[in-house]
Amino acid sequence: MKFGGSSVADAERIRRVAEIVKGNLGRKPVLVLSAMGDTTDHLLEAAEKALKGRTVSINRIEELHLKTIRDLKIDAAAYEIRPLLEELRSLLMGICLIRELTGKTRDYLVSFGERLSVRLATAYFQSLGQKARAVDAWDAGFVSDSNFTMADLDPVSWETIPAAILPLIEEGVLPVVTGFIAKDKTGNITTLGRGGSDLSATMIASACKADEVQVWKDVDGILTADPRIVKNARPVEAVTYEEATELAFFGSQVLHPRAMQPCMKTNTPVLVKNSYNVNAPGTRIVSALTRKALPVQTITFRQDVTLVDIVSSRMLGQYGFLAEVFSVFARHGISVDMVATSEVSISLTLDAAHNLDAVKKELEKIASVEIRAGKAIVTIIGDVRRSSEILHRSFGVCTDLGVQVQMISQGASKVNISFIVNDTQAVKIVRGLHENFFGAAEAKI
Ligand code: ASP
Ligand code: MG
Repeated sequence: MKFGGSSVADAERIRRVAEIVKGNLGRKPVLVLSAMGDTTDHLLEAAEKALKGRTVSINRIEELHLKTIRDLKIDAAAYEIRPLLEELRSLLMGICLIRELTGKTRDYLVSFGERLSVRLATAYFQSLGQKARAVDAWDAGFVSDSNFTMADLDPVSWETIPAAILPLIEEGVLPVVTGFIAKDKTGNITTLGRGGSDLSATMIASACKADEVQVWKDVDGILTADPRIVKNARPVEAVTYEEATELAFFGSQVLHPRAMQPCMKTNTPVLVKNSYNVNAPGTRIVSALTRKALPVQTITFRQDVTLVDIVSSRMLGQYGFLAEVFSVFARHGISVDMVATSEVSISLTLDAAHNLDAVKKELEKIASVEIRAGKAIVTIIGDVRRSSEILHRSFGVCTDLGVQVQMISQGASKVNISFIVNDTQAVKIVRGLHENFFGAAEAKI
């Protein structure tokens, strides 16, 4: 059972978690917790300030944790919470003095969020008479590579995790494990990328052969669209691992992009639930769907995308041209998202965050290149066996809205149809598509 930051944001939320867990104790759960509320962001902000040589302050973080401890009437002294806060303060002081923040230090720094939250929640569970134990990821068998801020789990974790966790379960202990973090083989603290607690949870569940993973969020599951944009967005009953993965990549923050990988190996089902609305059925994520009534499951989009158009007559009948183009991106460490090719051109998309001058110069040696920022990828996740219907209806919507589609790609994953439009048009299109595939807002009220 994984509870995200907003599910453990304060004393009230942690009490709720305890109730939810209590109802599931018979199933011998393992808990995975994120940092409380926005603590990870606050830690990063504190580091930025320290880096600029401004004051070292952990007031916001300290107040949140100490207030929660008071509200829950637990004893902070017994659970290493104050020493951890002291260590955090010293670390920030170090950053302030050295004026340097490497990936390695950054991971060490943000690890405090999860280490604090599991200790605090465990102290509360114990005060309720539960045999709970706070377990740092490295004591739960999480071994990663040394790719700081975005580490991958080492395959040995498939053995070390059950070896650490299963004996606790045998003893009747409720393990409360830090999400998001791990240690590399030399003992440095690493993180699995933002939102990484999902991966921590699915990894424990898969490696320990659990019946299911419950991911507790602050929304009713995976929705047909972002509810901030589409008012009548509603939860989807079930999606496949592939669909959930595509969603994570294309703008929806529901799950960590790599979270489905362990489950795909073991077919462990995932249930996304809302800790603010326990009675909502949530969304199941499974290996295959038994029934698929609608052609489309969900519509999502990502803004701030850059479109690169590469045209060369050298491509005609040639081999190796694509390899040459992609090797330029590889050398600059830039990951390409969508690709479409014709006989003489390649269009591809990138996140906007890159400085592309050098790339453009290199590519211009072999082709003419046009780079256009300010684009958005609109992605339709659905049953691509019905792609003609989906495309027909989607382009109908674009035509009605007077929007020109600038690139289109139908993923080989067979669940994703994406197209590029101008950033400013994305919201309008998502609303139009949602209305077409799921019905008008008025009809639901
Ligand atoms: N606390 C980390 C974050 O905010 C990890 C997580 O919540 O999954 O990204
Ligand atoms: Mg979080």
